[in-house]
Amino acid sequence: MGEPKEAIHVMGAGLSGLAAATILAKAGKEVHVHDIRANSGARFDGDFQGLENWSSDEDFLDEMRGWGLNPDEFKATAFHEVDLIHPDDTITKPWSPKVAFRVVERGTDDHTIDQGLKRQALEAGVKIHYKSRVKPEDCTIIATGPKGTSAVAYGEVFRTSYPNHVSFHLNDKLAPGAYAYLIVIDGVGLICTCLWRKQSKSERFLNETIAWYDKHYPELDRDPIKRVGGKGDFTINERYKVNGRYYVGEAGGLQDFMWGFGMRYAVTSGVLAAQDILGGEDYEKAVRSKLLPFVKTSVANRFLMNRVGDKGFKRVAKMWMKDQKKRGDGLPFIERVFRGSIWRSLIYATFGKMMLKKETTKDGRKVRRLPFRKDLKRDRWTMSSEAEDVGRLWEEKRRSGGSTSFSEEE
Ligand SMILES: Cc1cc2nc3c(=O)[nH]c(=O)nc-3n(C[C@H](O)[C@H](O)[C@H](O)COP(=O)(O)OP(=O)(O)OC[C@H]3O[C@@H](n4cnc5c(N)ncnc54)[C@H](O)[C@@H]3O)c2cc1C
Repeated sequence: MGEPKEAIHVMGAGLSGLAAATILAKAGKEVHVHDIRANSGARFDGDFQGLENWSSDEDFLDEMRGWGLNPDEFKATAFHEVDLIHPDDTITKPWSPKVAFRVVERGTDDHTIDQGLKRQALEAGVKIHYKSRVKPEDCTIIATGPKGTSAVAYGEVFRTSYPNHVSFHLNDKLAPGAYAYLIVIDGVGLICTCLWRKQSKSERFLNETIAWYDKHYPELDRDPIKRVGGKGDFTINERYKVNGRYYVGEAGGLQDFMWGFGMRYAVTSGVLAAQDILGGEDYEKAVRSKLLPFVKTSVANRFLMNRVGDKGFKRVAKMWMKDQKKRGDGLPFIERVFRGSIWRSLIYATFGKMMLKKETTKDGRKVRRLPFRKDLKRDRWTMSSEAEDVGRLWEEKRRSGGSTSFSEEE
């Protein structure tokens, strides 16, 4: 007679928690996932995110299939090209014959990645308990997403007749220390700005960014629907498996410190935790060999990014295009930036680590968190009249029912 089944409890029904739960349930485990929110993806409200395809040679969707997860359960729109907007408003086109990234939607609609993973978990027999508050001590996997704030992003979702498109925008005024972006998928657009320096009156950054796009992409015919956003939590943890508990996804700080492309690490870490529980490689070892090198490289990249402004961004954009010209492919440049090098390891060891703040979490874990940096003098500007107009249009929409799912107070 086999041993009685011991239930595994997972805290958080987002990407990392659902990936882990599905694999465990498929292997015959009894799995319960608890989420404080009413649904998976409810933290997001229909915003688009980029699923990167450059941190590994293997296409991420193939990797998912190899793990027994079905990427056909959610909508993913592949891109080979982006508009790269330089800080001086020049627009160039990094391009690759390979799928460089895919755009997925986050939220509670059927075609989102959150719901696609939820369906698979339910099919595998996972019991999901929404609006359920549990203690971390009672759970084996902690997959609760970001807790602290290292950076924030604000966006506006709108209707548009513009064709499918992605712009990646390096501009230290519109997106302090980071980047802004435009994504259009099948008649719905998102303009978003990421703030890696803490600001007062943050909405002016979104209004000014939208005004920029209205000017430079006049065919956008933007009709605002709602405003969205969220925060990112970037930590290096002393240990990823503590007292038999597995810290996965952003709950374990597994994020890209440079640009915030955390989805791939979230799913991967959930899978690695499940594999350990099923008798595979030790999670601590697996994270250290398969994910942490990328995370550390991204700390070094973040350290460098924090030290430059538009001049540095311009130099990077030019280097990227020069590299593309030489190779006939824009992706290897980004692959190199993300996958690390000896000098980036040196930067991490000598400066990068120092940039992080030592903290002990409520549950007694030691982490080094990327602090949300203070604003700089150059961040204190007043909105242009065009940005004021953008803000007024949004106010009208908001009063007639447009929702905001993330605010400065969160
Ligand atoms: C605005 C924005 C844009 C982004 N864009 C990109 C992008 O383009 N590409 C990319 O790769 N990444 C992007 N990211 C990062 C990406 O969203 C995260 O890295 C990823 O979702 C992390 O997955 P996770 O499983 O750790 O957390 P989540 O997917 O957020 O899941 C965490 C779950 O835990 C639940 N939870 C929280 N607290 C508790 C609790 N106490 N008990 C129970 N449940 C709890 C939450 O409700 C949520 O359902 C973006 C993030 C933001 C905010």
